[in-house]
Amino acid sequence: MPQGKPAGVPCVQLDAHGRCQIFGQPTRPAVCSQLQASVEMCGPHEDGGHFALAYLNRLESLTRPG
Ligand code: SF4
Repeated sequence: MPQGKPAGVPCVQLDAHGRCQIFGQPTRPAVCSQLQASVEMCGPHEDGGHFALAYLNRLESLTRPG
């Protein structure tokens, strides 16, 4: 996404299963490659990603223009 990913808009690189189609490729944006997972961001392993999704939704809400 040359102009960046707007808040609330899914990345164009996500496939139908929510997986990055360019994972591990040099074309993957640096911000994605350099992101370090942490307990603060991901929450407990057993929750199936619900904590992480809520965290990301909060970040998107906080960074949404206007
Ligand atoms: S890792 Fe980056 S490029 Fe891949 S789907 Fe997520 S936001 Fe898009």
